[in-house]
Amino acid sequence: MHQQHYQRVAVLGATGSIGTSALDVIARHRQQMRASVLVAGSNVRGLIALCASHRPDHAVIANPSQYADLRDGLAAAGLDTQAHAGEAAIAALAASDSCDTVVAAIVGAAGLASTLAAARAGKRLLLANKESLVIAGHLVMAAAQQAGCEIIPIDSEHNAIFQCLRSRDASPEAGVRKIILTASGGPFRGWSAAQLADVTPAQAVAHPKWRMGPKISVDSASLMNKGLEVIEAHHLFNIPSSRIEVVVHRQSLVHSLVEFIDGSLLAQLGLPDMRTSLAVGLGWPQRIDSGVSGLDLLTQGQLDFEAPDRKAFPCLDLAWQAMEDGGIAPAVLNAANEIAVSAFLGGNIGFAGIPVVVEQALAAVTDGQADSIEALLDADLRARQAASSAISSLSNG
Ligand code: NAD
Ligand code: MG
Repeated sequence: MHQQHYQRVAVLGATGSIGTSALDVIARHRQQMRASVLVAGSNVRGLIALCASHRPDHAVIANPSQYADLRDGLAAAGLDTQAHAGEAAIAALAASDSCDTVVAAIVGAAGLASTLAAARAGKRLLLANKESLVIAGHLVMAAAQQAGCEIIPIDSEHNAIFQCLRSRDASPEAGVRKIILTASGGPFRGWSAAQLADVTPAQAVAHPKWRMGPKISVDSASLMNKGLEVIEAHHLFNIPSSRIEVVVHRQSLVHSLVEFIDGSLLAQLGLPDMRTSLAVGLGWPQRIDSGVSGLDLLTQGQLDFEAPDRKAFPCLDLAWQAMEDGGIAPAVLNAANEIAVSAFLGGNIGFAGIPVVVEQALAAVTDGQADSIEALLDADLRARQAASSAISSLSNG
């Protein structure tokens, strides 16, 4: 039987929803793996607590002004974990000899540099940070290919497709006709555009099936998450938009499907718990315990499927269009969405303002090359500025 090497795992975004799920799985397999690097954005106390339980060699706080807090807190806790701070330290450690595997679970464009560094260094890359593929999918995939980096998608839909394919080859030569991404529909499934106008941040983050960070929860409510996932799938599986489909499946038990040329449809099912995807990533090609129990079909009873409401949830088509336009458009879409979501969470725009802001940024920022990270980050910055002015005129209007 194939024997897995001992893995030292860098968990980027360790204090988040995905990060804590990853650490839960890692801690179940102390003979096979351990967390050697932990990274957080600004939650120093949470990071130190994780260091106390997982004893990594290195811990990084992204916010440089919190370096002393981290260093002193680790020392006070009697830990010999080495403290670091700043984005450059995250990328350097993700590419260093301190880890074999990288769980990329930082939220947003902030995860791009470390995702890319891990890909270039040929790490085993468990990719949850979908935004890095939306912004720079061509460059990340090319870097991974060149360095022999094995990417295992962690996003549940893409992980399901990866399991059905047992690879990332979705080509017609591999017999694949199309892939079908499932969407829960979020907390506002079935709502009209008029009903959506007054929803609050608290309603938007209360996802019916998944416990996730605030940004992806809002994205799930607007269906932007599914749009980002279509772009993510396009890059991960090298598949054109014409062979990608989205269906709403409110039970969130079928995580996605692959249709083959012989008419077979393979699906992956399971309870909505990200530890399953993470265990697939950490163990592949072996299967390891995740702590998630099996799905009792008789208790669950029913599986429903319906078409997404593209009128009430325009973010899905905005993302689809950005993917087909290519170039900088997906990076602009992503950056404007990040700004719009945080404005919505901060009470500065309504829920219906999110697609308006994204659409205005896409119209305003059209020039620019997409052939380097620097050029894409420049487009990202201009999109953030365009989104901010769209927000000002919305909130003054
Ligand atoms: P979260 O908000 O719960 O956690 C985000 C993590 O990133 C935290 O540890 C935070 O400290 C860290 N972080 C924030 N800004 C940072 C920065 N500038 N530098 C370094 N670290 C920073 O988010 P999440 O729900 O765990 O999502 C993480 C990523 O995984 C997102 O890209 C999301 O789309 C993706 N994802 C999440 C889920 C899920 O179930 N939560 C499912 C699929 C994909
Ligand atoms: Mg998903």
